[in-house]
Parts: sequence; C-alpha cells; structure tokens
Amino acid sequence: MESIRTPASWVVVGLDNGGTCNNATVLDATGQFLVDHLVENPSLVLDGPESAVEQLAEAFTGILTLTSTPATLVRAVGLDTPGPASANGVISSKGATNFSQVSWRGFDIRSALEARLGLPVVYNNDANAAALYAHHRHFGPDAMACSSVSAIVGTGLGGGVVENGKVVRGAAGMAGELGHVQIPLYGVLEDGQPVPQCNCGFAGDVESIASLTAIKNNLLPYWLTRFPDHPLADLPIGEAAKLLRSYGEKEDPLALAVFGQQARAIGKLFTMAANFTDPAAYFLGGGVVEADPMFRQWFLNTVREHTDLRQEQAAVATFSLVPDLDMAGARGAAVAALERVSAA
Ligand SMILES: [Zn+2]
Repeated sequence: MESIRTPASWVVVGLDNGGTCNNATVLDATGQFLVDHLVENPSLVLDGPESAVEQLAEAFTGILTLTSTPATLVRAVGLDTPGPASANGVISSKGATNFSQVSWRGFDIRSALEARLGLPVVYNNDANAAALYAHHRHFGPDAMACSSVSAIVGTGLGGGVVENGKVVRGAAGMAGELGHVQIPLYGVLEDGQPVPQCNCGFAGDVESIASLTAIKNNLLPYWLTRFPDHPLADLPIGEAAKLLRSYGEKEDPLALAVFGQQARAIGKLFTMAANFTDPAAYFLGGGVVEADPMFRQWFLNTVREHTDLRQEQAAVATFSLVPDLDMAGARGAAVAALERVSAA
C-alpha cells in the first residue's frame, strides 16, 4: 500500500536527478517523509540544461500537489545529480556520462534551479546523497553523533564519508571519491591476472574492480580465459557483464569468482576507512542490494570478512546494505536540505 501524508509543519523537498528520471520527495520538519514510494517524471537531461531544469521544476510542483503541500511551507530544496560535479553542483567542464551535451559542461545546475524556484537549493552528488540517507536511516536520532562510510556499486563506484551526520566535502569538494582510492591488490587478484585499469587513469583502484564497468573491461575478459566454455563467452562483453549477477544468484563459479574479487576490493577499501575515520557503520549499496537475498548476504559477508578491523573496532562496527536504494538519492538530498535549514 502506498501512503501519502500531508505536512504538519514546514518542509523541504528532495529532488534526485538521474539519466532518465527525476525522483521527488517531501520531508517535514519532524523528519517524516510524506511519500513512501517513488514519484518520478522524465529528467530530459539529454535535451540539455534548460529542459532538465524545467523538468526538475515540474517534479517540484508535482510532489507538492501530490502531498497537498502549499509552496509557502517549503523552506529549501535538496538536489542531487550523478557526478562528476563540484561540491556546489557545477557539472564537470569535461562533461559527464549523464550530461553528454556540450551545453552541460561547467553548467551550474544548483544555481539554475535556485533561480527557477526562488528557493535555496542544497546540492550533493548522488552517491553522497545516498550515503547521507543510509546514515540517517540507520542511526536515526543519533545520526549527528555518528560516522559512516558508504560504497555504492553501479556503473562506477560511488561513495560517501559521513562524519557527525554531515557529508565530508573536502577542500576542493572531492572528498569521498572512494572509487578512485588505490588499494593493495594482494589477496584480491589471482596470480598472473592483469592489473585492472580505471577510466580515471589509475590502475588498481576500487572502481577498476568493483563496478559494472570493471566487470566489462577488466574482470570478465580475464575470467572468461579461465572458463572458456562458459555460456557468457558467446555474448558481446557488455551484454555478458550485465547478465553476470543473475549467474551469481545461481552460484555460478565464474560469477562468484568475479563478485568475490569485487567484495574483497571493497573490504580493502573499508580496511583503509577503518584507519582513516574509524566509522561506526559501513554501508554497501548498488545493484547488489536488489539481488537475491542469499546472494547479497553472501556479498556483504565477503566484504566484512575482508575488512581487517581491530578487535575494538569489530566490537562496535556495523555492516549493512543501503536501504530503499531507488529512493535514497531524493531522500538524502532532502535530509541535506533539512540539516541546512535547521542549522541556519
Ligand atoms: Zn579510478
């Protein structure tokens, strides 16, 4: 049953911008989300910034109508988009996968939406927004006193570091780019396996192993040489990479070898996190969360086994999956906006 509440106080709106859809939510001052399901409209990002900003404005109006929220109750808007973008929502000058049109390069989507709506807009990239939501959902009223690290496995590997309830942004706004942390490969790769390469130019970083792109470019080409008769060997590599998870769910040995390497790589990353911020929780999100429960638990357990914690750390740390992943972006964006308003 989908349920919709009406606001009991002032509110913030969360808008998650994606490659095909926007997702919108409303969060009231007491921390209650007014919708418990996805509320989407087309994002039209391929039509360029002007159309995309208009679609975000439409998502905003739509969610207010759905929840019977008067616009006068809205104090701020949280926005998240895929990266790379600056901490303030300026899309990379080199462009980005989801923002291929030239007019997107260097476009300040946060300011554009702020001007369009006439309300303060707080920006996060999508991985940071998901990390923030995972953190607040997990810790509830203790969120502002706790720390966490999130790894979100998708086309790339997104991440977020949350300290005392807030996303760590860094001097240049580039903190939490966990996909591009280079990890020790001992115990991750097989003898003779080529060192995986990342699109960013690094070799042996987390994204070069733990992402869909890594399966396609690095892991599957290698593992198919070890399993030459595997049915996936007959398919184009991009198609085979996307199908691999369904094989993992059936405990196919090649698939388990690939996903095992991914889980060990994330374990190495979390081991480094343990020595940087010693977080109270380690969250894992992405496609794997939507997988069969047995498979995702195996994946999470493998990550945990390969995260070397000291005894004192192991006694207090939690490992868990990012909940409500399809809504995590919009909800995290809203949480960030609520924090900003509450702090003002
Ligand atoms: Zn990289």
